[in-house]
Amino acid sequence: MLEQSIDTLKGIGQRKMEIFSEHNISTLKDLVLYLPKSYEDRRHPISIRQITSEGNYFVVGRVINKTFKRTWKKSILNFDVVDQSGDMLHVIFFNALYLNNMIKENEEYSFFGHVNYNLGWLQMVHPDFCKLGSKNDFRGIVPVYSNVGSISGRQIRSLIKQIDDISPFDKVTDWIPDDVLKEANICNISYALNGIHFPKFKSQILEGRYRLIFDELLTLETGLLLIKGRSGLDEKGPVISGEKMWEYIDNLPFELTKDQKTAVSDIATDLSSNKPMNRLIQGDVGSGKTVLAESAMYAAAEEGYQSAFMAPTEILAKQHYETISKAFQKQGIRCGLLVSKQSQKLKNAILNDLKDGKISVIIGTHAVISNNVEFNKLGLVITDEQHRFGVNQRQMLTEKAVNPNVMVMTATPIPRTIAVVIFGDLDISIIKSMPKGRKKIITRVCHSSNNSFLTRDMVYENVQQELKKGRQAYVIAPLIDESEVIDANSATKLFEELQTKFSNYNVGLLHGDMPSEEKSKIMEDFYDKKIDLLVSTVVIEVGINVPNASVMVIENSERFGLAQLHQLRGRVGRGEYQSYCYLILNSKSDTAISRADIMESISDGFVIAEEDLKLRGPGDILGKRQHGLPDLKFAHLTKHIDVLQRSLEIANKILEDDPNLTKDKNSMLKNRIKELYGDDLSLTL
Ligand code: ADP
Ligand code: MG
Repeated sequence: MLEQSIDTLKGIGQRKMEIFSEHNISTLKDLVLYLPKSYEDRRHPISIRQITSEGNYFVVGRVINKTFKRTWKKSILNFDVVDQSGDMLHVIFFNALYLNNMIKENEEYSFFGHVNYNLGWLQMVHPDFCKLGSKNDFRGIVPVYSNVGSISGRQIRSLIKQIDDISPFDKVTDWIPDDVLKEANICNISYALNGIHFPKFKSQILEGRYRLIFDELLTLETGLLLIKGRSGLDEKGPVISGEKMWEYIDNLPFELTKDQKTAVSDIATDLSSNKPMNRLIQGDVGSGKTVLAESAMYAAAEEGYQSAFMAPTEILAKQHYETISKAFQKQGIRCGLLVSKQSQKLKNAILNDLKDGKISVIIGTHAVISNNVEFNKLGLVITDEQHRFGVNQRQMLTEKAVNPNVMVMTATPIPRTIAVVIFGDLDISIIKSMPKGRKKIITRVCHSSNNSFLTRDMVYENVQQELKKGRQAYVIAPLIDESEVIDANSATKLFEELQTKFSNYNVGLLHGDMPSEEKSKIMEDFYDKKIDLLVSTVVIEVGINVPNASVMVIENSERFGLAQLHQLRGRVGRGEYQSYCYLILNSKSDTAISRADIMESISDGFVIAEEDLKLRGPGDILGKRQHGLPDLKFAHLTKHIDVLQRSLEIANKILEDDPNLTKDKNSMLKNRIKELYGDDLSLTL
């Protein structure tokens, strides 16, 4: 019944249907799941005499002294309400012609609204009202709905009442099976809908909302588990002798930090076991995650297994390819690079060698997981900066081998509970200690608009000082919008300015709109120190490693989020030199300033991530583009973490009992999962 279109309701014509559908409401069910924004307690009217301060009140009384004035443009309806206490309250409606006939003198109505004082008199403007004893005389706890476009909340209230009349909430079939309701200790959908739209007491509202939140998270989790092939987790994966990792580590020119060592033993244990590894490595920028990946890939290669290493950008993939292939040359381990803009001939050669097992380590962007890539014996999959990959991409990669060991590295710490949702049942290693000798990056904020202590000119003088010492610098051009072309323009302008300013040095330009070869050439020149100062858009953001670079200037830094600023700053201070980060602010907005303050005082990426979460909320950090999860209507990933955990447990139980949701009792739940994920994820249901 609830699947019917909303135009089956009385009072909904073409126009209103359009308005609703613009707001994603097209069926009765959609409307029923449009929840009140608040509730008004209209259980007991207050006597007018007892009103002693301004606020929302519910009063019942008789209309007297009614006047109606109308000019050609305006109308005003005025009257007093007198109740049993004998006291009076003044009521005014502006421009509400139709009300003049609806409100009759000497009849009784209930009024709900905000009472204020006007020249000492109690007054209500535009209250919600109802003729006493009429059908619409909502008593009790009354839901208040936000308007939908031009459709008023009041109208929505009566539409929902209408739905309950033609298709009683009491008779709605629950999509969650009975045994699950019991197990999860949540109310059924009928109770929830009644509780939310027609509550008898307040706890009912909470119970109803909890049910919908739980419901949504359960759907999310069950869907995720299905997508990930929950059953796979119990199966056996490739066994790789993890001890071999230490062979590689022993040959490094530096000693691992304490946390790096712990991570190596974690990984070694995982690899050695026949349960596939599923590990998240969280380590701040510059904490040295790459060597962990290298040592694991080394161990895999020694045992005849192939590894795939994915990076979020082509520049980064190439850089990783360069360092990793150089490092592996001595050991005779062959590496290959796969990026989208390669010649077909080269690509084919690499694909063939990969298929024949001649290449042990393949490095690339998401091109590595495209369908035409075949492996000979894939044993290990590593993704760098995983938060940028969607669930489905990761899934595709996992499908390349039976059950490869999976390792995910990120510099953006994600709270454990959320990581579990996104990455499934994984283990986590955290690297907090930094390599020896690293100096703290000095961060300074410059307000370009006022005469602050630090002017933009002074910033560039400091840059000059560093270049003089033989260091290199990055300057990040403002991020104008999502368009690479426009960003490229702004970068080009800045490049021209700085070329003049730094005429004694080599200034380079890098932006996303450049052909791939040109980009790599510029990066190579920067590595080889042929470029002293690199003007770049954010393409440079993640992972780039040039230890000689000691200055990072970020123009219009207010355009960037905290996590991004931290990533950018992490491009310097990667070697032995004291490094600097300058944030040039072009805005005096509170968020811009508080972000800059945080950057100035905090260097710990984990703390910054938490601050980011506070400032932006998880919506942005865990935005759909990044995590690949569907949008949620009722639940909130960070706010409802405990519900999330509980729903994960229940989701596991459901799938234990019915792994592919083929049982009848689960058919509605299955549909709901499909509904939630839409076309985003091709569910193999
Ligand atoms: P990230 O964690 O940001 O990916 P990288 O793996 O790129 O960091 O490491 C940054 C730099 O630190 C690299 O040049 C790397 O060789 C170096 N490095 C890693 N571990 C150590 C260590 N224990 N001691 C000294 N230098 C290290
Ligand atoms: Mg890295």
